[in-house]
Amino acid sequence: MDKEIILEKIKKQRKFLEENSMLNYKNRILALKKLYKNIQIMTPEINEALKKDLNKGEVESYMVEIGMVLNEISYMVKHCKEFSKPKRVSTPLAQFPSSSYKIPCAYGMVLIISPWNYPFMLAIEPLVDAICAGNSAIVKPSEISPNVSNVIQKLIEMTFDEGHVTTVLGGVEECTFLLDQDFDYIFYTGSTRVGEIVMKKAAEHFTPVTLEMGGKSPCIVDETANIPLTAKRIVFGKFLNCGQTCVAPDYIYCDEKVKEKLIYELKRQIILQYTTDPINNTEYPRMINQKQYDAMRSFINDENLIFGGKCSDEKLKIEPTILNATFEDEVMKEEIFGPILPIVTFNDIDEAIKNVNSLNKPLAFYVFSSSKENQNKFINRCPFGGGCINDTIVHIATPNMGFGGLKQSGIGAYHGKIGFDTFTHYKSILDKKTWLDLSMRYQPFNKFKTFLIKLFMR
Ligand code: NAD
Repeated sequence: MDKEIILEKIKKQRKFLEENSMLNYKNRILALKKLYKNIQIMTPEINEALKKDLNKGEVESYMVEIGMVLNEISYMVKHCKEFSKPKRVSTPLAQFPSSSYKIPCAYGMVLIISPWNYPFMLAIEPLVDAICAGNSAIVKPSEISPNVSNVIQKLIEMTFDEGHVTTVLGGVEECTFLLDQDFDYIFYTGSTRVGEIVMKKAAEHFTPVTLEMGGKSPCIVDETANIPLTAKRIVFGKFLNCGQTCVAPDYIYCDEKVKEKLIYELKRQIILQYTTDPINNTEYPRMINQKQYDAMRSFINDENLIFGGKCSDEKLKIEPTILNATFEDEVMKEEIFGPILPIVTFNDIDEAIKNVNSLNKPLAFYVFSSSKENQNKFINRCPFGGGCINDTIVHIATPNMGFGGLKQSGIGAYHGKIGFDTFTHYKSILDKKTWLDLSMRYQPFNKFKTFLIKLFMR
């Protein structure tokens, strides 16, 4: 996109913000309701675009893209008024007579940069939170999922005034140009590598950021786990969207004693959920592009293959695949982001915790165990963004908890109230009354004033 057009869009957003129409929470609710309605109208087009870009089936598209967004809008419409009110807080006695409160204020103009793997949800869900908090926004969807990006542009054009919300389509060049501009907040979802670029650029303008990134999310299975159910839930979380999910279990780390039984159940579940021929299963998505497809294929060889492994160059599809692995293998070096599931084993829980913690802090963490003691050991001693006990992925589908990583897997969080707070600056106001002015803080000091100051400030 032409740079002049981008600058014109930024100008329109600044003008829109000056008019302050989004100060009123009622206008935000109207905007969110309009977005909800237009998403419903455009659902067939969104589905078609998701099918073209990722071969996502309609049910999966609703469950993990459209439905998630509609759910977030409903939650924000319901709570926008309450979230937008000033919050009274208590005031220390030393400040008598006064009252204190925090006023939620929008940051202003927000830049939202999104990736290709859940291309609709990851562009629109942060936008919902940003609008609810009263911001304007420029959305930069991924160039790697072009059909969905075009649909997002159409949806935004038919829903919002350009000064309120607009899109910039394009890739690295456009994104770099946007990052050179002075935004009031940047919300980025994508790889850790690009996250670092975003953070450095944001620092030039002292712009606060939320970075939603990825990492190697472990899936621990101990000897007390209910293995058939464990396998069912791991297969669901790992092969959803063909493994191209930031919170997918990256690898299984299981007690050596249950490995064979777990493999047996994983194979059974792969067949039950994806048939014996996933390549020709129209509900099973494909790899996004040749590069990702080649990267996945390079992990599979005759020595490490346990199950699956068949590929289609023509369809860019790879069967759900299970591999034997150790922490030294190539497949254990970086986030996999595809339908490859390595299994590493342990004999001792303390050793397992040490090994998991030797890698970067993951975005998600899953522990399958019937032992409260073991569950607590893993949950309390391993740092990670969020996760589940005895399930995978579903912790992200609630507006009552924040979603985000830490360090290399992310900075900040969103969803529900935490999403509203992410896009909100709270102004702290102390309203001092004028009918009394205690003199103890003013010079010159004396013994009595010193006594009072020490009395109040303990
Ligand atoms: P990516 O980092 O390649 O791209 C993300 C966005 O950044 C795109 O809009 C792209 O145009 C832009 N971009 C790419 N290179 C750039 C550059 N050099 N300078 C400026 N902008 C640039 O990520 P991706 O491949 O689209 O997504 C996959 C990654 O995203 C995985 O690591 C995954 O774990 C992570 N992810 C995280 C979440 C989360 O919610 N935490 C969700 C989905 C994906």
